[in-house]
Amino acid sequence: MKILEIKVILVITFYLAFSPCLLIVQAKETPTSQQWPKITKQHWGEFNNLPIWLFQLTNINGMKVRLTNFGAYVQAIEVPDKNGRFNDIILGYDSAEQYVNDCCYNGATVGRFANRIKHGRYSYANKSYQLTTNNGGKDKINHNHGGHIGFNKKLWQVSHFNGAVVLTYTSADGEQGYPGKLVVSAKFELTNNNEFIISYSAKTNKATPVNIIPHLYFNLKGDGQGTIENHKLQINADYITEVEPYLTATGRFLPVNKTPFDFRKMKTIAKDIRTTHPQLKLAGGQDKQYGGYDHNWVLHGYDGTMRQQAVLLEENTGRKLTISTTQPGLQIYSGNFMNGTVKGKKGKLMANRSGVAIEPQHFPDSPNNNNFPNTILLPEQRYLEVTKFNFSVQR
Ligand code: BGC
Repeated sequence: MKILEIKVILVITFYLAFSPCLLIVQAKETPTSQQWPKITKQHWGEFNNLPIWLFQLTNINGMKVRLTNFGAYVQAIEVPDKNGRFNDIILGYDSAEQYVNDCCYNGATVGRFANRIKHGRYSYANKSYQLTTNNGGKDKINHNHGGHIGFNKKLWQVSHFNGAVVLTYTSADGEQGYPGKLVVSAKFELTNNNEFIISYSAKTNKATPVNIIPHLYFNLKGDGQGTIENHKLQINADYITEVEPYLTATGRFLPVNKTPFDFRKMKTIAKDIRTTHPQLKLAGGQDKQYGGYDHNWVLHGYDGTMRQQAVLLEENTGRKLTISTTQPGLQIYSGNFMNGTVKGKKGKLMANRSGVAIEPQHFPDSPNNNNFPNTILLPEQRYLEVTKFNFSVQR
C-alpha cells in the first residue's frame, strides 16, 4: 500500500470513530449569547414595488418579537403569563397592507417629532419654520406625530439583522417642513432576560427638532382580550405637562398630587379615569363626560441616562412590564379615541380602551417651550434615545 493510501484510511477511520462524539458534544452545547436571539426574515408584501419584510426575533425562553421595515412598526410581542402561556400583548394587524393603511400608529416608529407642535410652527435662531398640520379639530390646526406622512409611512432600509435588527431611514431636508437631512437608525434587540430594547439614533446637517418614539399599545391580557382598565400602572412622576384644547402644551407643570394623574403608587387605570377633572376632559374621545388619559408625565431625575420609570401589571395573567428609558417624558394614552371601527389582528375590532399606549418621549411642543428639555438637534451632535421594555411575571 502506498503511504498516501495509508494516510487516507487513517483519516477516515479516525473520523468514523470520533465524529459521533463530536456530534454529541455539539448537540449538548448550550447556545452562546451570540446565537440569541434567533432572527428570521420573511417576505411580507410590497410597497412602491419594493419588498416589505417581517422579522422575527426569538430568545432562549421562547419570547418572540416581530417587526417590519415598513414604518419600523413592531407587529407582535409574545410573552408568557404566570402559567407559561404565551400571548401577543400588543395591538396591531395581521398583514403588511394593513400597516400601510394604519390610522393610529399601532406599534409604529413615530418621527421626526412625536406628539404635537402647536400650529405646526416654531422658531429657532431667529428663523421661523412651518410644518404640515394634520391634527386638532376639523381644521387640523396642529402638527402631530411628524405630520401627514411621518416616519411610520416610509419604507426603511434594512441595515442588518445579525444579533439585532437595524433599520435606517433618511428624511430629506424639507420633509413635512422640517429643516435638515436627518439620517435615522432604529435598532431592535431582544435579550434572554425578556428585555425588548429599542434605540433610535440620528444625525442632521441643519438644526432640527427631533423626537423619535416607539408607539406601542399594550394589553397584557393579550391582544383582543377586552379593555386595559384593570391594568395597574405606576409612574415615577410628580407632574404632568398641562394640556390645552387639542392637547398642545401650556408650558406649565401640573402637580399630580390629589389628582387622577397620581400614579406614584400603583393603581388601576380605571380607578380615577371617570373623575371630573378639566385635564381628563380635554383628552376627549368616546367618554364625553369624563374624557381619559392622553398626557405627558414628567419623569423623575431626567439626565439622559437609562432609568426605570414605569410599571404596568395585569394581575390575572401575572404579566408585568417594566419600562426604563433615557427619555424625560411618558405619554399615557388610554385609547380614548378607539371606537371599534378599525379591524385589528384576527379581524377583531379595536374597541374603546382595548390598549394603552405607553410612549417614552420628549415633552409635547418642546420647540415652543424653552422651559422643557431641549429637542433641537445640531449638526455636531448625535441623537440617541433608548427604551427598554422588560417583561416578567408576578405570581
Ligand atoms: C396621541 C393621541 C392619539 C394617538 C393616535 C397618541 O400618541 O397622544 O392623542 O389619538 O396617539 O394617533
